[in-house]
Amino acid sequence: MTPPTPRTHGSARLWSVPTGPLQENALLVAGSQNQGFLIDPGDDAERLLALVRETGVEVQAILLTHGHFDHIGAVEPLRAALGAPVYLHPADLPLYRLGKASAGRWNLPFTQPRDPEHPIAQGQTFTAGDLTLTARELPGHAPGHVIFVGDGFVVAGDTLFAGGIGRTDLPGGNHNQLIEGIGRELLTLPDDTSVYPGHGGWTTVGREKRSNPFLG
Ligand SMILES: [Zn+2]
Ligand SMILES: [Zn+2]
Repeated sequence: MTPPTPRTHGSARLWSVPTGPLQENALLVAGSQNQGFLIDPGDDAERLLALVRETGVEVQAILLTHGHFDHIGAVEPLRAALGAPVYLHPADLPLYRLGKASAGRWNLPFTQPRDPEHPIAQGQTFTAGDLTLTARELPGHAPGHVIFVGDGFVVAGDTLFAGGIGRTDLPGGNHNQLIEGIGRELLTLPDDTSVYPGHGGWTTVGREKRSNPFLG
């Protein structure tokens, strides 16, 4: 099969796939040597595995922006199929472990993944060939939420959306912390940086600075 066309930033290629009933965007990111990372495999494990196989990307690790169930529902089958370790900020481990209970409240089926192999810390870098992603803590939507900053793009999870921000009424949420974190970690990136949110379409830092009603 012909792989779908990725978006490109320099030598980095990104494939975004909306998964599950909450249409959570899983992202496959790879550098020029076709090594890369799978971020937030929320659901639809078979579809994500097919994408990995079609693109031929060697997935070095599964990276999680945070522990909400809609971002982790396909972790277990993909970790097994790819033999890749899972990374999560430790402050989101309690939410991660509540995945099945949270999905149950929506009456959604869910495979509870085993605990992640590795923690994520502020400033930690993830390298696969010529691709480097840097984790930055951005709590407020979830206490251990991180974003992954690449060259010309950022994977934002549920912090900043096109025209919106993450909800802060869930356990561990904090509105002021989220707004402050967006200002500190996202809006300081160059205006032409592409933002890939956990739900909905991509946007840019500059566009959100100018038009996002929650910022400013
Ligand atoms: Zn979330
Ligand atoms: Zn989400």
